[in-house]
Amino acid sequence: MEWLELILRLRRWTDNGTRDPHKALLVLYAIGQLQRVGYKTIRFRDAESVLEGMLKEFGPPRPAGAGYPFHHLASDGLWEVATASGGPCPSAERAALLAEDVHGRLHPAFARDLLAEPALLAQIVRLLLDLNFEGGLHADVCAAAGLMPELAHTAAVADFGKGDLPRTDRDPILRQKILLAYDCRCAFCGFEGWIGTTVIGLEAARLRWWAFEGLDDPTNCLCLCTLHHKLLDKGVLGLSPLGKIMVSRQFVGTTETSRRLVTDLSGRAFHPPQPGFAGPEARNIAWHGRQVFRGPSLA
Ligand SMILES: [Zn+2]
Repeated sequence: MEWLELILRLRRWTDNGTRDPHKALLVLYAIGQLQRVGYKTIRFRDAESVLEGMLKEFGPPRPAGAGYPFHHLASDGLWEVATASGGPCPSAERAALLAEDVHGRLHPAFARDLLAEPALLAQIVRLLLDLNFEGGLHADVCAAAGLMPELAHTAAVADFGKGDLPRTDRDPILRQKILLAYDCRCAFCGFEGWIGTTVIGLEAARLRWWAFEGLDDPTNCLCLCTLHHKLLDKGVLGLSPLGKIMVSRQFVGTTETSRRLVTDLSGRAFHPPQPGFAGPEARNIAWHGRQVFRGPSLA
């Protein structure tokens, strides 16, 4: 339980709904390395580009550099860091980390326990995912970290008396409720699809993420097709305070289909729920705009 508690403490940084998954992503990357190549020292210069890519893809709209978690994670009891000559890491500055050939590794006792207890490793990964990312991103994060994909589907960590665990009171019929409110159509593109009497390719998408007190109800959710749900979670799409669809200027799509499915949405009003059903609230739209959407928008 000791390691799970230390993982939970990483989350203290993210009160007030501010996303700060930097340290979590480094731990996930290091566990991925542990799984694939065993317990070895990780040089900053070797890991930097992968870590930067993970921070850009899964971090907040303006992530800190890879040096930030590489240096600061050492204060959390999970990670050790040193210069090539064995001295203390001077700072989180990229230039200093490169000049001193700084390297890090999971705390030896942590690595030993992870290797000895596959169930613990799976629980640590699941807890890091649940504390930081929407469920639809878990498999993507595992793939980026080089982790076995089945780890994205481990059972959630059960209560071990320490509180602060991610909530598990999800609404099992949320998807049905949201699909009903939106008449089984994507609120962005209008897609609908069926096989027999089963709706396919449509999902309930949260604006404010579950890990950050986002609610499973119509004030926080949209009915979106699978593509637009993923693009919402990745910060490519968002909503303006006036309910217009925003497309990140960072999005690049070169085909006619990309233009039609994504770029052309910019500035359009989203399709609201049917009369009598609540729509997304401004505070949840604003949270997504601050913490997930990769602004500025095209329009
Ligand atoms: Zn759609």
